Amino acid sequence: MNFSTYIRGIFKGLRSLAGGMSVTGKEFLTPKVTMEYPENRKTLVISDRWRSELIMPHDEQNEHACTACGICMINCPNGTIRVISASIDTEEGKKKKILDKHLWDYGSCTFCNLCVISCPSDAIVFNNDFEGAVFNRSKLVHQLNHTGSKLREKKREPLPANSEKTTDK
Ligand code: SF4
Ligand code: SF4
Repeated sequence: MNFSTYIRGIFKGLRSLAGGMSVTGKEFLTPKVTMEYPENRKTLVISDRWRSELIMPHDEQNEHACTACGICMINCPNGTIRVISASIDTEEGKKKKILDKHLWDYGSCTFCNLCVISCPSDAIVFNNDFEGAVFNRSKLVHQLNHTGSKLREKKREPLPANSEKTTDK
């Protein structure tokens, strides 16, 4: 290698370094689009349209609107929902089907919303919580109805707007 080739190599390297540094400088001054999660957890706004966790709202009397009809279970394409019903005797001496357990598997749900749309009692909805990670797969199966909760007698009675989150994790 002669001297002139050596000098040309140095200038080529310096030009390449300047090009790289200009890209770095430009990115350094560009407004940031990433967020610092979980540091921003308190201020993070998730769209209302975001479907995350299926819940069954309960009212102040711990009652829900599910009639245990099983339509959501039938309409779920993944077998994600299991509705277990029980039979009780009413005061009139008749048999009545009520919900025993409404089980939903976070791990197999595709959030298609078919269960919510098909429910004739508007008993289930998706919330927009987004932190559903657990350390044990068994914790992905949520029982949506509270233990001891009953069928709301007036099935079409609207649920309170601030119905509490119901999932037993
Ligand atoms: S959102 Fe879709 S996949 Fe998930 S439980 Fe409902 S019907 Fe099944
Ligand atoms: S959630 Fe709705 S569709 Fe599913 S069992 Fe209850 S009432 Fe029927």
